[in-house]
Formats: sequence, C-alpha cells, structure tokens
Amino acid sequence: MAEPPPGKCWTCGKETTKRCSKCAEGMNQEDVTTPTYYCGKDCQTADFKAHKAKCRQATARKQLYRGGDFLQDLFYFFREEAFDIDIVDVKSQHGKLHTYEPAWNNEVTFPYFKFPGHLVTNQEDKFALLTMLCCNEPAAYMHKIVKKVFEDGIDTGYYGHDTFYLPLKTGETYVLDLAGAQYGQYRSVVPYRFYKETYCDHAPEFRPFGTAAGQRHILDAALKGQCKLFGADELQKGDPRVKLMLDYLSRLINLTIEDWEVTKATSLAVLFNKRQELYHAESKHVKEGILSNISAWMGWWQGGEGPSFRQTTKTHADASKHTTERTTTEIINHTSPEVFFEKCLSIASQKEHKKLQAEETALAKK
Ligand SMILES: [Zn+2]
Ligand SMILES: [Zn+2]
Repeated sequence: MAEPPPGKCWTCGKETTKRCSKCAEGMNQEDVTTPTYYCGKDCQTADFKAHKAKCRQATARKQLYRGGDFLQDLFYFFREEAFDIDIVDVKSQHGKLHTYEPAWNNEVTFPYFKFPGHLVTNQEDKFALLTMLCCNEPAAYMHKIVKKVFEDGIDTGYYGHDTFYLPLKTGETYVLDLAGAQYGQYRSVVPYRFYKETYCDHAPEFRPFGTAAGQRHILDAALKGQCKLFGADELQKGDPRVKLMLDYLSRLINLTIEDWEVTKATSLAVLFNKRQELYHAESKHVKEGILSNISAWMGWWQGGEGPSFRQTTKTHADASKHTTERTTTEIINHTSPEVFFEKCLSIASQKEHKKLQAEETALAKK
C-alpha cells in the first residue's frame, strides 16, 4: 500500500505519516477524508480521550457517504433500465435541459423506454435526466434497501420531493436525496442544515420512516381489476404498470443483496466499513450483480433470459414475511413476461378479496 502523505502530529505538531488507523479513512462533514496524525504511541495516548468522539464521528460519516453513494447508484441503475418517459431529443440551453417527447397519441404503449443516454453529453445531464420527475420514487421503492443501510431514518419531503432525514447516533443529521440531480443537487448525502438552507424555502415535512413505501397500497387498489388498471384515478398520476414494475425491480434489488449476504456470510454494514480497496472491489462486484439482474429482467420483456435466484435459506423471524419473499422469488424465477402482470393482478386482487371479506365479517358482527 502506498504511504499516506505526511501530516502533522495532532499532539506535538511533528511531521509524520502515521495516523489513527481506526479513522484513517474517516470523513468530515464535507465528504472529505480527514485522517488524524500521531507521530507515535505516546502522542496518540495523550490525545486518546479527546480523539474518541471525533474518531467515531469520522468513521460514521465514512459509512454514511459510502452508503448514500451506493444507494444512489442503485437508484440510477433502475431508472436507466426502467425509464418511463419517452424522450426523443434533449437540448441544453442557458444552463437548462429541454426535453422533447414524441407527439401524443392515445395508444397505450409499453410503459418503459430505452434511457436516451446518447442524447446527453455529460454525467451531470445524464443524472438530471435519470431523476427527472422523480418525486417519491426513491422513498417508495428504495425504502427497504435504505433501511438496510441506515436503520434509523425518517421520510421527509419538500413540496413533493421526497428525501430521507438521517439522524446519526453521533448527533449529526443528514439528508439522503437520491433524486436531487433534477434540481442540480447531485450529492446523495448532504448535511441537513446545509440542505435546508440551500435547497428549501419552507420547513420540511417529517413522516415516519417507510410512509411513502406504505403508500403502495394505492397501487394494490388500482390493481383490483384490469379495467381499473387503465381507468383508475391513479392513471392520472402515471401508468400504474410503471409503479408495479418499479416495485418488482426494488424487490429484485433486495433479493440480489440478500443472496450476496447469504453467499458471502456478510452484510452491507460490514462492507461499508471495509478498507478502501476492499470496499471498492466488493461494492463494485455487488453493484454489477444487481445491474446484471435488473437488465436481465428487463431484457426478458424482449425475449431474453431472466435472472435466476435460488431460494434463500435465511429464516425470517417473521413467518409471514418469509412467505412474501418466497412468493417474490417464485414470481421472479418462474413467471413468463406474458403472465407477469396477470399474476401480480391476481395476487393483488386475492389480497383485496381477503381484505374485503374481513371487512364484511367485521361489519356483520356489529
Ligand atoms: Zn507527536
Ligand atoms: Zn481515530
């Protein structure tokens, strides 16, 4: 490994390359690595008490920023593979991106389009386009994976742009904004105070963690029957098939991660804490696995082969949860594209049916 650049000993000021190994890759609030140098054991011991809190904060930030970037990459992946806006041209003028859709006709088409990556010339424009019109998508479809990375979070929104509020155990607070690129906010994680002062002109709205994910029952309702699928009020808010597909893609991401965790007997939390090179190699491997599963599944629609999952042997404490995951695995493994929506529809309506039955029974008892 290359020698770190020399710094000054925190205690005595002598030039040294030795650092506190625990927070060597720790970060400050600006996402910059800030090692603490000590020329030797004595100087480190002398500062031990004062350094403890700083060390913990720097390490927590490393995990925070890595986790945020990882999640943002995943969100970009599934937007790139499952893009729901038909864009035929993009023009950049006076710092603004103008997008052009084809002339509107009333035909119901396939709800996904190839992401027009060839129309953008730089990464920033690409990210802006990828997140275009994404209001609550990350909060709704990324919730489970966000929860895996950041156990404690809070849903928060500003005029319909949903983000996550992350209070760290160290007392610092951050915002996880996976779709901010459409507003020129490209970072995945931003200190809360800065975010609020820079991007918001009113107080944010806080909701319990998972609120947006829970709102997917609206989707189930829209899926009661196929005629309603295309006629429901929900359609005004977009094609429900898009939401259904995003829901399944998000489950696919979760399954891929669970598969990796079981196979490697590790977890994302452990991964984010690893040394730089190990972290980069392994996270690249995980992301490539996810990307290939997403594109395989989307390619299935064009007649390719879908991804394949073995049944995970991991036992869930909650038996009902296990059943849900198994069902998802089965659908992802064994359903042909033609019957995919039908199957989802029947599951949704079975669920709806049971709910109605329960409601009727409850009413009858009154
Ligand atoms: Zn020293
Ligand atoms: Zn340290």
